[in-house]
Amino acid sequence: MTRITTVPERISSTRLAREVVLHVDGLVVDYAGVRAVDGIDFEVRRGEVFGLLGTNGAGKTTTLDVLEGFRAPTSGAVRVFGVDPLVERDRISPRMGIMLQDAGFFEDLTVRQTVRSWRRFYARPRGVEETLQMVGLEHRATVRVKQLSGGERRRLDLGLALLGHPEVLFLDEPTTGMDPEGRHRCLQIVRDLVEEGLTVVLTTHYLEEAEQLADRVAIMHRGRIRTQGTLDEVLAAHRTSVIRFELDPARVTEAALTALMWSPGAHVQRSATTTAVSIDSADPQADLGRLLAAADRTGVALDALTVTRSSLEDLFLALADEAAPTQGVPA
Ligand code: ATP
Repeated sequence: MTRITTVPERISSTRLAREVVLHVDGLVVDYAGVRAVDGIDFEVRRGEVFGLLGTNGAGKTTTLDVLEGFRAPTSGAVRVFGVDPLVERDRISPRMGIMLQDAGFFEDLTVRQTVRSWRRFYARPRGVEETLQMVGLEHRATVRVKQLSGGERRRLDLGLALLGHPEVLFLDEPTTGMDPEGRHRCLQIVRDLVEEGLTVVLTTHYLEEAEQLADRVAIMHRGRIRTQGTLDEVLAAHRTSVIRFELDPARVTEAALTALMWSPGAHVQRSATTTAVSIDSADPQADLGRLLAAADRTGVALDALTVTRSSLEDLFLALADEAAPTQGVPA
C-alpha cells in the first residue's frame, strides 16, 4: 500500500522549496471541437500557493482535471510529483487532496458518517473529530448532508480533501457560498498547512482571496494564460497606477477635456451630473504633473482627485476586456 506522508514527517518546506511538484508543458485540451485549454505552461513548487484565475469558461477547471489525473491532454505534457497523473493516478492520488466545485455526497449520511466513510480511502487519515473541528462542523456532525447549507457543504468538501494529509491540494473555487467567517476559516486552514509545506493550486473568482493567499498567479482567458508571475511581477508588468478625477460637465469644454485626456490610458465615463476620468499610468508622478499643468492651463477644477495602485482586479478586468467572448475557442 502506498505510504501516506503525515504532516510531522513531511520534510521541511524550506529545504524543498525548489522542488517542482506540478509541471505543465504546452497543455492543450479539446472537447468535441472546442479548444478549452490552448497551450499553457506553468510550474508549481513545493510549499507554494498558485492561483489560477480567469473568466468563466477560461479553462481553469479543465486544467485541474488534467492535473488531478481525471482527463487526458489532447497534447502537451503534465507531471505531478514527476509522473503522469493519468497513468499513475492510483500511486499518487493518496498524496493529493481535491476539493471539487461540486462533490457528490451520499445525501442521507450524516456529516460524521460521511467523514468516517471517506477515511477508508486513506492509509493514515486524520481523525473524524479532528477533521470536523478543523473545518468548524463539529456542531453539525449528526446532521444529514442534504440538510447542510451551501457553505457548510463546502466546509465538508474541504475537510474531506484534507483527510489524507495531502502534499498537494487542489481547490476549485473553495469558498463559493461560504459566509465571511467560513471563508476566513478556510483561508486560515490553508495558510497554516502551507506553512507546514503543503502545495496548493487554487482557482477562485474572489480576487482578494488570491491576493491574500497566492504566491504566484496566472490569469487565464479563452484557454490561454495571459499573464503569470508573483503578484508584484504581474502588477508591475502591466499598468501600475490609476489617476482618477471628476469634472462638472456644465463647466468643462470639450477642448479642455481633450487637454486633460492626452494619455492613451485615459478613459471617460459620462453621466448627466458628472464626467469621471481615469488614467492608467505606469509613471504616476510624471502623469500627475502633466495633468495638473493641463488643469491650470485650461482653468479646470479636478474634483475627487486620487491616485491608487492598480489592484489585481483592475488587471483582471483589463485582460478579460481584451477579447469579448468567454466561451472556448474552436479547436
Ligand atoms: P468557470 O470559471 O466558469 O468555472 P473554467 O475556467 O473552469 O470556468 P472550464 O470549465 O475548464 O472553464 O471550461 C472551459 C471551456 O470548455 C468552456 O468553454 C466550457 O464550456 C468547455 N467545457 C468544459 N467542460 C466541457 C465538456 N465536458 N464538454 C464540452 N465542453 C466543455
